[in-house]
Amino acid sequence: MNKSELNGSPHNMQQNYQDAMAMVRKFGKPDLFLTFTCNPSWFEVLNCMEGVQRPEDRPDIIIRVFNMKLKELLEDICKHGIFGTVLTYIYVIEFQKRGLPHAHILPTLDSESKIRTEDDIDKFVSAELPDPCTDLRLFQIVTKCMVHGPCGTINMNSPCMRDGQCCKSFPKQFKDDTEENVNGYPIYRRRATEPVQVGKYSIDNRWVVPYNPWLLKKFNAHINVEVCASVKSVKYLYKYVYKGHDAASVKIQKEGALDHDEILSYVEGRFK
Ligand SMILES: [Zn+2]
Repeated sequence: MNKSELNGSPHNMQQNYQDAMAMVRKFGKPDLFLTFTCNPSWFEVLNCMEGVQRPEDRPDIIIRVFNMKLKELLEDICKHGIFGTVLTYIYVIEFQKRGLPHAHILPTLDSESKIRTEDDIDKFVSAELPDPCTDLRLFQIVTKCMVHGPCGTINMNSPCMRDGQCCKSFPKQFKDDTEENVNGYPIYRRRATEPVQVGKYSIDNRWVVPYNPWLLKKFNAHINVEVCASVKSVKYLYKYVYKGHDAASVKIQKEGALDHDEILSYVEGRFK
């Protein structure tokens, strides 16, 4: 198993990027793109708060718990093979402006495990609200951690809005069936169902950030799982995860080919 870990300085990030590209040449493109964000409401975090402390007052605790969970997540993916046999992977840890760490993970699966068909995609990734009658816990986590925005006409002040448009292209379209490769990414199934009330908003499947049900229930956190369908965006994905903090995102956006890069525009919205 090969891996490449982020190690601080811009020089190392450049080096890591080169290493990652060498790994792509040797092992092939990554099959999945995961983003795992620390949940400050994990009981391991809340249990350590003293008095009136809030999680944001204790970055030391946040980091320790996140690191512990990330290790377990990597083990589930890379060692226990929940998506299949992993040939190689990279991951990068970043800190959001408000201090919550998150990690991007890009595993490459072996040829037996490649995610090829619509059925393969549906097996691992859902972009729909679960039925609260059959799985209440999953429903609660999805509505708490995996609903985007809402933005657009419902909420023009959402931080993802740029010039009147959602920079992550939400709300998505309803779709009866998953389509496996549209401009490099799948379009996930989002059936038109009755909306549910989430906070003050009425939400349906168009607002769900793609996730893996098993991982979500195990880790109770925002874990976005995307299938990478084509090879053409790989370089940009790696450039994205190895960018320096803040500064590089503008530069990456200018590289033309990214205009229609759904995952990238999606992930980039996080840093604004
Ligand atoms: Zn939005």
